[in-house]
Amino acid sequence: MKEILSKQNAGVVLAKEENFIEWKEVLLKFKENFGKDVYESWIKNIDLKKEFNHYVVLSAPTRFVRDWIVSRYADQILDIIKTFKKSIERIEFLIEENQDKSFKPDLVNKKHVTSIESSLLNYNRFNPNNTFDNFIVGESNELAYTAARKICVQSSHYNPLFIYISVGMGKTHLLNAIGLEVSKSKKAMFISAERFMYHFIRSIKNNEMVKFKDFFRMANVFIIDDIQFVSGKEAMQEEFFHTFNALMEKGSQIVISSNCPPSDLDKIQERIRSRMSGGLVIDIQSPNHDLKIKILKNKFEEIKLNFKENYILSDQVFEFLASEITSSVRELLGALNRVLAFCKINTKSPTIFECKRILKDFINSNGKNINIETIQNLVASHFNLNIQEMLSQRRSRSLARPRQIAMYLSKQHTTNSLPDIGRKFANRDHTTVIHAVKKIDELIRKDNEIRQSVNEIKKKII
Ligand code: ADP
Ligand code: MG
Repeated sequence: MKEILSKQNAGVVLAKEENFIEWKEVLLKFKENFGKDVYESWIKNIDLKKEFNHYVVLSAPTRFVRDWIVSRYADQILDIIKTFKKSIERIEFLIEENQDKSFKPDLVNKKHVTSIESSLLNYNRFNPNNTFDNFIVGESNELAYTAARKICVQSSHYNPLFIYISVGMGKTHLLNAIGLEVSKSKKAMFISAERFMYHFIRSIKNNEMVKFKDFFRMANVFIIDDIQFVSGKEAMQEEFFHTFNALMEKGSQIVISSNCPPSDLDKIQERIRSRMSGGLVIDIQSPNHDLKIKILKNKFEEIKLNFKENYILSDQVFEFLASEITSSVRELLGALNRVLAFCKINTKSPTIFECKRILKDFINSNGKNINIETIQNLVASHFNLNIQEMLSQRRSRSLARPRQIAMYLSKQHTTNSLPDIGRKFANRDHTTVIHAVKKIDELIRKDNEIRQSVNEIKKKII
């Protein structure tokens, strides 16, 4: 990105520079959209440097901040900027180190001394919509549900409680329900491992480690979601381990979720792994047909009530959804939403034929089992690459394009969620996948060579 910029700065300016965007207003919009905490910590440090017809150049104070913003918020940022200037198609970032001055003092500013507490409190909020009451129980999740209920009544019953299943199957929902219930009478803290890490890094920067430690150690019940994201990050693991021990010593309850059992968390230190296996480890199984129907019907009633809409959906459609969507509860509910959008527009229940059309990208074609690995293999061999190269972090176009094509095809031809796809591409963020899908979508329209490649690979997939 930097090379492109310096070329342009050297005079090879391709687009005409025009100034229309009121950056102050954009910032206000960012604040509204991202919330105060994310805005204060990251977004407000972005500045508009140059504005062209089709893109803008923004600046970030450090590489770290830039990477963080790009990996998490780039799409939203672009969308917001677009509302101010429709023709903008992309954003570019430059790092303006000297801006550091305004960045750092802000973080150590007296006024921000309590930033840990206030920002953590923001993230410690529970989602009032995911409760025990609307967590539908069946054979596959009964054990997890019962254990979760139990620790709300009597802490340290199973300590730690470790719940695992692949994404979209109700972990966060269940953890949230525990948090809601427990916080009626005790101090519960609920944070994703990713967030924990973010605050950890932030408090190192702000010299607030003591506060960080104290903050988490106050919890009577400490709930940490998606622990698999801790993988590898050594300093953070160290901190986590100490927090963990301090809490256990105090008799606090710990609840952990993960997308795999402790034994498969191979980048997590052995001592943490064994600590985590020391209590009760439960897996939630994939829901069976009956449970899927129950979840669908419950959600359907909930939506009708919340939106005061009187949708009509035939039993056949429920059956169809439950038998065709096999990947996750999240996808199942996504499919339901798609169907309901149809109901709303057409004021009738879709037929099965219509369902197939509406949901074609949720459902594998021909029932052939196409997975991300198959797609990666096909793409790599089409471009004469080996998989490792294609998945590597290198950014040269000869690797990036095939990688993006593989992400695009994975989105189109599997039912995996975006975070899922990201994970299978060497643990990339889901926003990277979104970006890839958009990019290839665009290139298919504009670039014959790309279109041909995509079509050729597609033929092999189907
Ligand atoms: P995970 O954290 O495992 O990725 P989530 O908890 O975010 O999954 O669940 C995905 C979606 O499915 C959420 O909307 C959640 O409310 C819903 N869901 C999952 N399992 C159930 C269930 N047993 N009953 C009701 N809703 C569920
Ligand atoms: Mg989750």
